[in-house]
Amino acid sequence: MSTVEFRVGSRAHITVETEVCRSCTTKACVVCCPANLFVPTSDGGILFNYEQCFECGTCYLVCNNEGAIAWTYPDGGHGVVFKRS
Ligand code: SF4
Ligand code: SF4
Repeated sequence: MSTVEFRVGSRAHITVETEVCRSCTTKACVVCCPANLFVPTSDGGILFNYEQCFECGTCYLVCNNEGAIAWTYPDGGHGVVFKRS
């Protein structure tokens, strides 16, 4: 993590429809996100924070519920920056 910097944009480049997530039986995003940005809530939904996203796309690939995740890249000049160590 010492070689990673996040230039956080004001627009969330990924949004999660927690109402759709309530019917999800796998919650695959929780175990697949390398940044641990998906947190299950006690009511069956998902709490998501886009700010430290690696932009790897794994959550979008593993999610099998249509409409749960809207995925885009951050606006120009924002997002993850991988630095040389
Ligand atoms: S984002 Fe997709 S995989 Fe994750 S809980 Fe919601 S529906 Fe399930
Ligand atoms: S794109 Fe990758 S790092 Fe970002 S939320 Fe999805 S799985 Fe996590």
